[in-house]
Formats: sequence, C-alpha cells, structure tokens
Amino acid sequence: MALIVQKFGGTSVGSIERIEQVADKVAKFRDEGHDMIVVLSAMSGETNRLIDLAKQVQERPTPRELDVLLATGEQVTIALLCMALHKRGYDARSYTGGQVRILTDSAHNKARIREIDEQAIRADLNQGRVVVVAGFQGVDEAGNITTLGRGGSDTTGVALAAALGADECQIYTDVDGVYTTDPRIVDSARRLDRITFEEMLEMASLGSKVLQIRAVEFAGKYNVPLRVLHSFKEGPGTLISLEDDSVMENPAISGIAFNRDEAKLTVIGIPDTPGVAYQILSPIGDANIEVDVIVQNIAQDNTTDLTFTVHRNDLARAEAIVRETAKKLGAREVIADSKICKVSLVGVGMRSHAGVASKMFKTLADVNINIQMITTSEIKISVVLDEKYMELAVRALHSAFELDEPGAA
Ligand code: ADP
Ligand code: ASP
Ligand code: MG
Repeated sequence: MALIVQKFGGTSVGSIERIEQVADKVAKFRDEGHDMIVVLSAMSGETNRLIDLAKQVQERPTPRELDVLLATGEQVTIALLCMALHKRGYDARSYTGGQVRILTDSAHNKARIREIDEQAIRADLNQGRVVVVAGFQGVDEAGNITTLGRGGSDTTGVALAAALGADECQIYTDVDGVYTTDPRIVDSARRLDRITFEEMLEMASLGSKVLQIRAVEFAGKYNVPLRVLHSFKEGPGTLISLEDDSVMENPAISGIAFNRDEAKLTVIGIPDTPGVAYQILSPIGDANIEVDVIVQNIAQDNTTDLTFTVHRNDLARAEAIVRETAKKLGAREVIADSKICKVSLVGVGMRSHAGVASKMFKTLADVNINIQMITTSEIKISVVLDEKYMELAVRALHSAFELDEPGAA
C-alpha cells in the first residue's frame, strides 16, 4: 500500500467520457489499497477559452481578476471526477486550491507555492476518501485566488506529493513518457525509460513543455519520484530521478529541446569603452525583463556590437529601452528580430564526452543552417537560429546524435 499522487492533464479530462475513464483508473488503484490524491487540469482548451473571454472585455485585465476567472476551469473537472467516483461507489471529495490551502505568494498568474496544509487531506485519506484537488491554483496570505502559470497543475501535483511524502507522483498525459524530443515534431523520437531531474529541468527550461519547470524543480529539491505516463495506454512511462550511478555509460545527449519564445536585439557600433554592456543591459533588468543569450563582438574601429535575446512578449518594451540607451551611448543602429528559435542539446553525458559542440555545429553546417548565437553550460549547448530552420535543425541533430527510435524511417 502506497500513497500515490496522480495528475491528469487537460486532454485526459477533456470530455465526460475521458473523465469516466480517469475515474476507472483511480478506482483501480484504490482497489489495490493505495491512498489516492488526484490533481486535475481544466478540460483541454478551457484555460485558453477563458483567457480569450477576458481579452474580449479588456485587452489587459488585471492579473488578480484573470486568476479569479482562470481558476474556474479546474473547479469543473474536480467536481465531475468526484461524481464519477461516487457513481462507482467510492468516497471522494474535491477541493479548490484555496480550500486545501495551497498557500502561495501574491504574484498573480505566476504564483509560487509557499506552503501546503496537509492536515485536512490526511484526515480525508484516513477515512478512506480519494482526495481530488484542483491543479494550477492557490491562495495568497490575504485570501486572493492565485494561479501558478501555464501548465501549473504539474506543480500542484508534485508539491502535494512533496508535502505529504507520497511514494510516487504520476503525471498522466497524452504521450507515454518523456521523449528524446517532442514527438509531435520528430516522428522517430524515442521514449526515455529514465531521465535525471537535472536533465529534465534543462529540457523544460529550454522549451519542452511536457512538464512545467517549477514541477521539476520541486521534484528535484524534495526528491519526489516522478513518472510521466500515458493516461489511457499501459506502459512504464518515464521515471525522472536522481542520477543513476548504475548506468556507467551515459549517452552524450539525452534529448533535444527547442522554442520559438525568444526575440533578438542587436546594438551596432557602440563606442568600445568599459561598462557599455552594463549600460545597455541594466535598464532592461530594471524593467524586469529577463535576458537569455548574450553575445558581444570583439571591437573593431573602437566600436563593438552587442546582441541579446529576451522573451518575445517583452520585445517591444525591451526595444524601446535599448533605443533610448543606444541614443545616449551614440551607437549606430538597433535591430530587432523576432523570427528566431533556440535549439538545445541536453545531457549529463556531455560532461564526459568531448566534441559534442563541434558535432552539433558540423551537423548544422551540413544542412546549411547558419548559427546566429551560441551558449553552453555543463549539460547543454544551445544555438539561436532563423526560426524557419527549427524543424530541420531538430531532425538533423536528432539523427546525428543517434537518438532515433531503432527501426524508425
Ligand atoms: P497536459 O495537458 O497533459 O499537461 P501537455 O500538453 O502540457 O499535456 O504536455 C504533453 C505534450 O508535451 C505532448 O503532447 C508533447 O507534444 C509535448 N512535448 C514536448 N516535448 C516533449 C518531450 N520531450 N517528450 C514528450 N512530450 C513532449
Ligand atoms: N489549465 C492550466 C493550463 O492550461 C494548467 C494546466 O493545465 O496545468 O495552463
Ligand atoms: Mg501540461
């Protein structure tokens, strides 16, 4: 007998039929004697629908009101699942984030969980009830409803598992595990039996939206055994865990992540004096805009160029700030480019394999793709490319690093 947290994503609760199927699954685990906590997302498409409704009323609704609206999606599915469980003769109770008291900070739309009051949940579990909790939402100190950012139900699941010391947190979704890259883009992508927290965190941060970044952070920090599984197909899924010492030979690369979320700003002809990078980037930081990749050229003719990337949503604001600074510094030109993508290789095996970067650059050269920027860390290499080459780059790298499913075309 174990304590299991199961989280079901939007497509897994996207219709009454699917909710009934989820109820069967939960019931099966309950029959085996496990204590069950179930976390649900809203029905697929619902959160987008709600955002769209809000925008029809006001272009930029206040984050507080948006949270009040968005939190309704998950309230629908938790109640329906409990009804489906009751119909099957199981005792079950649904709770909103505020009711189980998932206490968060007050950063609406991207709140962080601070504390979970596990007493009420334990009392229900002790009575043999299935506890069904709305994902993606919490409540701040003052009682305001908050949400945890898109994909945040994963984080609710992991946080509950951590708070209650669950034996496993199972994330049920529409793929049967974590793949070497997004299987929607690369047909020959291969399911991984396991991946380390560290690698999964890089994959999620670099664009693989199969798990929310915070969920992986939480799981790593509290060492919550995390498994990604298909909601309706049997299979072992992917276990996300600490580095496995028994696997002597790690492949150089475990996976490839990519995203189109960034945009690039280049300042050309900046007088090459100490402090220019600081002068350009500090007003960006002051405006709370995160900078990702940065490249500065070696000076020629006493001037230099600086290029950096920001989230696409921040491009207009960042560009306005940079134009101001460029004028003050006497720079020649500012160029904004939102048609870029970032493709990244991730793997703890990189630590012990030389030549990963040169193989990556050669592979891209062979298919005639120009690299605009490069950034590396211990277990990842990212390149910024023209976005039209994203799929070609991912496929070429997937096959060059022998990640393809054996037998795939
Ligand atoms: P849910 O609604 O269940 O939370 P998501 O859409 O958030 O589901 O996450 C599942 C999706 O993540 C898959 O359909 C898949 O297209 C995408 N995905 C991106 N990268 C990967 C990857 N490396 N492995 C598996 N799925 C991935
Ligand atoms: N319903 C929310 C979203 O679509 C949270 C989630 O599904 O995890 O982002
Ligand atoms: Mg998700």
